[in-house]
Amino acid sequence: MQAKISSKHARELEIKYGAHNYHPLPVVLSRGEGVFLWDPEGRRYYDFLSSYSAVNQGHCHPRLVEVMREQAATLTLTSRAFYNDRLGPFAEYITTMFGYDKVLPMNTGAEAVETAIKLCRKWAYEIKGIEDNKAEILVCSGNFHGRTTTIISFSDDRENYEGFGPLTPGFRIIPYNDLLALEEALAHPNVAGFMVEPIQGEAGVRVPDDGYLAAAAALCREKEVLFIADEIQTGLARTGKMLACDYDNVRPDILILGKALSGGMMPVSAVLADDEIMLTINPGEHGSTFGGNPLGSVVAMEALQIILDEKLAENAFRLGEYLRTELRNMAGSFIKEVRGKGLLNAIVVDCEQGKSAWDFCLDLRDNGLLAKPTHGDKIRFAPPLIINEEQMEECVAIIKKTIENF
Ligand code: PLP
Repeated sequence: MQAKISSKHARELEIKYGAHNYHPLPVVLSRGEGVFLWDPEGRRYYDFLSSYSAVNQGHCHPRLVEVMREQAATLTLTSRAFYNDRLGPFAEYITTMFGYDKVLPMNTGAEAVETAIKLCRKWAYEIKGIEDNKAEILVCSGNFHGRTTTIISFSDDRENYEGFGPLTPGFRIIPYNDLLALEEALAHPNVAGFMVEPIQGEAGVRVPDDGYLAAAAALCREKEVLFIADEIQTGLARTGKMLACDYDNVRPDILILGKALSGGMMPVSAVLADDEIMLTINPGEHGSTFGGNPLGSVVAMEALQIILDEKLAENAFRLGEYLRTELRNMAGSFIKEVRGKGLLNAIVVDCEQGKSAWDFCLDLRDNGLLAKPTHGDKIRFAPPLIINEEQMEECVAIIKKTIENF
């Protein structure tokens, strides 16, 4: 066990020896339990970010700690050079839960997105019959699907791609929530897939119109184009249903999951699809040393079962409605807009009078609630889904008090 260090020392070390690829809010965290986080000095905070929706089940969920402890002492990694006795049961469990023929397990979200891209391209050449190296995947303006070189190649946020070229070809960006633009783009015969976030989380919780996903999926089906849903942030009960696509009764051709698939214990991601798509990838053509490891498999199975047992989708739906109503009541000179679904929410704030979202988040921190601004004027409010009514009321009171004194 390492010795405890102060917040000041921890920050100094991180800044001196760690790469500066993040700009964290100045708070150091050393313990988590449920909806709460603590700093080394013992101050307690409500977590209103949930590690970008990776800890939907709450920090250090006892059931996850227990299965992890047990499996960690039994078998953690075999590589896929051999079978292991945990991957099969996990694969059966998750494919049954979401209704697909097969799953391809990976680790981070970005790896799962890369997997979906490779699957879509392979399917395009082998099944749809697109000429070699000509397949095109449609993506949306404002998208965020991860940080690999290929994924940033189709971001339209300069910060993500500038200075990292040459970029990967084969993607076309169309406006989000625009069916006409999609219909036009789909007219091209080389289009193989349309990859979309059901709600754009990183873009500041942009919620498309009701029915957009259903209509988009129908357009894709008409043109024999795969509808690929990146539910890494929106899925697993975050938006008040198991999948955000469920609101539109859409079943994606390729479903991408990550983050809360492990309840924040370790990176576990998964791509789900039916045989026609999944079996286009053959042994040796794709993989990962850690993907499908026994430790991740048991943790993911338990993490999914917790979502069902604790009715986290229902809780997210109910408390999300309450939170947005309360935030809308506070709207005025500072809060300009409140948006979201379930417990994936954001406020858009007025930064024009010298009041920045960053400063507001510092004040929230001082009042015991942690949130982080994105794109300058948006603040995401996304607590763990296990939050209860009383805790949510306390959080609303903290936000209210912070606005009044801001
Ligand atoms: N896709 C979406 C929608 C995301 O929100 C994220 C992360 O924020 C990713 C992909 C990338 O996941 P990871 O950071 O685990 O690679």
